[in-house]
Amino acid sequence: MPRFQRPTGTLDVLPEEQPYWAHVRAHTVRLAERAGFARIDLPIFESTSLFARGIGTGTDIVEKEMYTFLDKGGNSLTLRPEFTAGVVRAYIENGMRVRPQPVKLYSIGPVFRYERPQAGRYRQHTQFNMEILGDQDPSADLEVMLLISDVYAGLGFKRLSFQLNSTGCPRCRPGYVEVLKAYYQQHVDEVCDDCRRRLKQNPLRVLDCKADQCQPVIAAAPRIGDYLCDECADHFATLREYLDLLQRPYTLNHRLVRGLDYYTKTVFEVWAEGVGAQAAVCGGGRYDGLAEALGGPPTPGVGVAAGLERIILVMKAQGIEVPPLPAPSVYLAHLGPEARRETVRLADALRRAGVGVWLSFGERGLRSQLREAGKRGVHYAVILGEEELSRGVATVRDMEGGEQVEIGLAELVTWLQERTHP
Ligand code: ATP
Ligand code: MG
Repeated sequence: MPRFQRPTGTLDVLPEEQPYWAHVRAHTVRLAERAGFARIDLPIFESTSLFARGIGTGTDIVEKEMYTFLDKGGNSLTLRPEFTAGVVRAYIENGMRVRPQPVKLYSIGPVFRYERPQAGRYRQHTQFNMEILGDQDPSADLEVMLLISDVYAGLGFKRLSFQLNSTGCPRCRPGYVEVLKAYYQQHVDEVCDDCRRRLKQNPLRVLDCKADQCQPVIAAAPRIGDYLCDECADHFATLREYLDLLQRPYTLNHRLVRGLDYYTKTVFEVWAEGVGAQAAVCGGGRYDGLAEALGGPPTPGVGVAAGLERIILVMKAQGIEVPPLPAPSVYLAHLGPEARRETVRLADALRRAGVGVWLSFGERGLRSQLREAGKRGVHYAVILGEEELSRGVATVRDMEGGEQVEIGLAELVTWLQERTHP
């Protein structure tokens, strides 16, 4: 038999990791709902053409990273590589335009990208995603930026940096792209092969290149901020004015571009310390052209997606602790077959009364059972032997202090219920 292994680039989230996941999920969902975002759950796969259109051919995601397959009916489907295209598809398909605008939606779940796996970069990862659809006010951009930074602040993150840029719109961006291409033509011998290819397919992406040889060329490249049309410049100025008003620090980063063609105006990322090279814990921005590109009515939108695995890596690197998950508070130990029957009955009665129980299995000595009780982290161990049973009592041991008391079997459920539900 082969020894089966999980697919390259995927994770098993083991029980000991779950307190982090539960905490991060609960925290993000609470903040989103409190701010008026409603949850939407979508299929994990969609038509391949939705992503080809919504994300854009010529992007790394569509060219290289999608998990695409034909189903038995011959339809080309793709495991979602991000949320936004699916959310906008659902907005159009379900006629959400007739609801009061804007519509605020959040989602949480797995996304799939065929990438080169490394720490903080996987082929299946989990995103928390928020979108505001149907409004072009710069304060909507502000809202998603503030909410996501509140998520990190509330989790206890230290040392975050907010990276901000505007990549214009279909009116002003093409002019800038021409200037950028002309500049790169003069430096074509200095840049890497990838950038030479990017110049033809997706020129803005040259700004995002990590190759050493390209760094001086990028540093001296023309900046999109100098080429924005009045509308984009005003939008960006207003957003920055709000951020200054709130004294929220950010870094203007002219190299920040998204791999997604439908992004207009605002783009941002939050970078954290503690995840090495994969420093981005979220990315977001405005996508005023997307709904139309998908055949819907013109609908401005802005959103953000955060990677939960990276959030948890940062929490661990920064030593952030999380509350434990609910666990049994009572261990039931028995000695002998009569007592065994009584502990089975007691376990049932305690569980019905809402008390979490770990029932000892098998026939074992008391010492071994108490050792297990210690490992399970319970508050009380109930010890029942034939002698106690004959007197109608049980010994209850406080596992923290070690004191023992005898409690009548008739009162035991109430006694434990009162002490485990203060
Ligand atoms: P990167 O530049 O790191 O590849 P991206 O620009 O592809 O990120 P987005 O598409 O904006 O990322 O996705 C939003 C967030 O999802 C990222 O900020 C990151 O936290 C997380 N993320 C993206 N790709 C991965 C991955 N392969 N593994 C784990 N997390 C990821
Ligand atoms: Mg990526």
